[in-house]
Amino acid sequence: MTQYTQEQIGKLVDGKLDWDTTMRMLAMPKDAERFQQYLAALQQKVDWDDLIILPLGPQLYIAQCAKTKKWQIKCGCGHVLCDWKENWKLHAHIYVREDEQAMKEVYPALMAPDTQWQVYREYYCPQCAAMLDVEAPTPWYPVIHDFEPDIDTFYKEWLRIPLPERVD
Ligand SMILES: [Zn+2]
Repeated sequence: MTQYTQEQIGKLVDGKLDWDTTMRMLAMPKDAERFQQYLAALQQKVDWDDLIILPLGPQLYIAQCAKTKKWQIKCGCGHVLCDWKENWKLHAHIYVREDEQAMKEVYPALMAPDTQWQVYREYYCPQCAAMLDVEAPTPWYPVIHDFEPDIDTFYKEWLRIPLPERVD
C-alpha cells in the first residue's frame, strides 16, 4: 500500500496532482489515513475553525460548530444552511430554469431539454452566491434530498477512528 504526503493530497483536492500519481492513486488500494488527509486538505481551504466531518460537495460540508458542537451543513464561505440531518437545498437560494429562454442561456439552439418534461433547479449559497448543486428533475418532482450519510458507521466501523462529539 502506498503512502502519500499531505502535500500530494492537497494537490489532489485542488485538481493539481500530476497525472501519473493520480492514476497510481486510483489503481491502488486506499491507505488507511487517506480520509483524514483529505479532511485536513479541505480544512486548510476554509477560513473557519469548525471541524469538517464530511464533504457534501466541492463547497459544501457537514461541520461541527466549534462553540456548540452541533453538526451543521455549511458553505465554504462560512454560511450555515441548516442542521446536518435536514435537506440543505431548502435553505439555499433556488433558481429554476423552466422555460426556453432560460435554457438558451446554457444550451445552444435546439439542444436544450423540453421544459415541459425537464427543468433545472440551481442551488446557490444565500451569502456568497456559490452554486452548490444542480438537479434536473421533471417539473413536478419534489426537491431531492440526495444524501443522508450514516456517519457514525462510517467513522466507527469503516474508518475505525473516533466520532467527533455531536450535540443534537
Ligand atoms: Zn457561501
